[in-house]
Amino acid sequence: MMGETPGVCVKALEREGADVVGANCTLGSREMIPLAETIRHCTSLPVIIQPNAGKPRLKDGKTVYDQDPEEFAEDVQAMVEAGVNAVGGCCGTTPEFISVLHSRLFAQ
Ligand SMILES: [Zn+2]
Repeated sequence: MMGETPGVCVKALEREGADVVGANCTLGSREMIPLAETIRHCTSLPVIIQPNAGKPRLKDGKTVYDQDPEEFAEDVQAMVEAGVNAVGGCCGTTPEFISVLHSRLFAQ
């Protein structure tokens, strides 16, 4: 957000003794995939990612998010497969998003 690269941010957090690094909010899950991959490649620490359900936009004076739970879960699964250790949802996600994600990640 302030113009620092993910690698610079991760190294600064490591120097300060972070146990986990990651990103949340602002980006939808689709836009978060390359950032998650970049963070994963910058550190050996556990990585946590919690994207929004799309980029926020105003509609009739209310903030709305355009992703559906299936798309969100597909993207977050891609991040897990890229080595992200902990995942969740930020703005615009609901318990349904997490339920669909859980089903996708732990399907037998
Ligand atoms: Zn958020």
